[in-house]
Amino acid sequence: MNITNQIVIEKAKELGFDLVGFTPATVLLSETGHLKEWLLNGYQASMEYMSRNLEKRLDVKNILPNAESVISLAMNYYTPHNHMIEPGRFGKVSRYAWGKDYHLVIWEKLELLEDELKKVDPGFECKTYVDTGPVMDKAWAVRAGIGWQGKHSNVISREIGSWFFIATVITNYPFDYNESIQDYCGSCTACIDACPTKAIVSDYLVDSNKCISFLTIENKDEIPVKFKDQFDGWIFGCDVCQDVCPWNEKFSIVSRLKEFEPAGNKELELDEVMNMSGGIFNKRFETSPIKRAKIAGLKRNGNFLK
Ligand code: SF4
Ligand code: SF4
Repeated sequence: MNITNQIVIEKAKELGFDLVGFTPATVLLSETGHLKEWLLNGYQASMEYMSRNLEKRLDVKNILPNAESVISLAMNYYTPHNHMIEPGRFGKVSRYAWGKDYHLVIWEKLELLEDELKKVDPGFECKTYVDTGPVMDKAWAVRAGIGWQGKHSNVISREIGSWFFIATVITNYPFDYNESIQDYCGSCTACIDACPTKAIVSDYLVDSNKCISFLTIENKDEIPVKFKDQFDGWIFGCDVCQDVCPWNEKFSIVSRLKEFEPAGNKELELDEVMNMSGGIFNKRFETSPIKRAKIAGLKRNGNFLK
């Protein structure tokens, strides 16, 4: 039996994905051009991995030689909770990291999806990615009609806003393909105006050297002192540009997955972080995205907010 778009959509939605789009596995010429420009400007900061494997980012046939299509999947993680605000006592955690690590959640579901599709046709082959590996996940999501890339650089859906994770499935299977949708940012500049560190240096261009998300998570160095008092209380990540986006205000819907409900990590008590042992850190954040910052990074962030 042939695998149709409808079969993929039904099975993906049963597993908890919210949006599914299909696009041919073509070469991403203009998108890698933009990436190269971004790299030339040094906007990747110390994320050197962003400049590796450009040939795979450009052409997914360098990952799966018989690739025909790319399936882009969105998984909504929005939950209707707010931070406890008490500057100097709590540090805020980015919404995506409130619950279970999305890699763990989505990897499992992608395996199940692959198994299900192979049951329909054993000839189905794929390589799957969630935010790791040399794959232009946002570019594929845009091409597959999931949404458009907003001026803050996240993908925005007209149905669910931008609080979603993106998974990418490169496959040997042909499908009917979606059209990309237009950019609905229009004349809005809310994210650019609200960014506490002015990291959105121009429309669609984020300089990681200034972005609180980078500075509190991927960054291994000290946080430049010039950002003191500009951090708006964030200890891990930053949601400001997505919080102010009108598409999230109007269209966010609550995630169907209980895994993304806050697991006691919506905000962190600064004193607790500063006194935390390695053992407690490992145990508390074992299945949380917060472990990515490592204990030294989290303590550095806590110290910066004090
Ligand atoms: S995540 Fe925060 S710091 Fe980074 S661009 Fe958005 S608002 Fe600015
Ligand atoms: S806040 Fe406005 S400009 Fe920024 S991504 Fe949302 S719609 Fe686009």
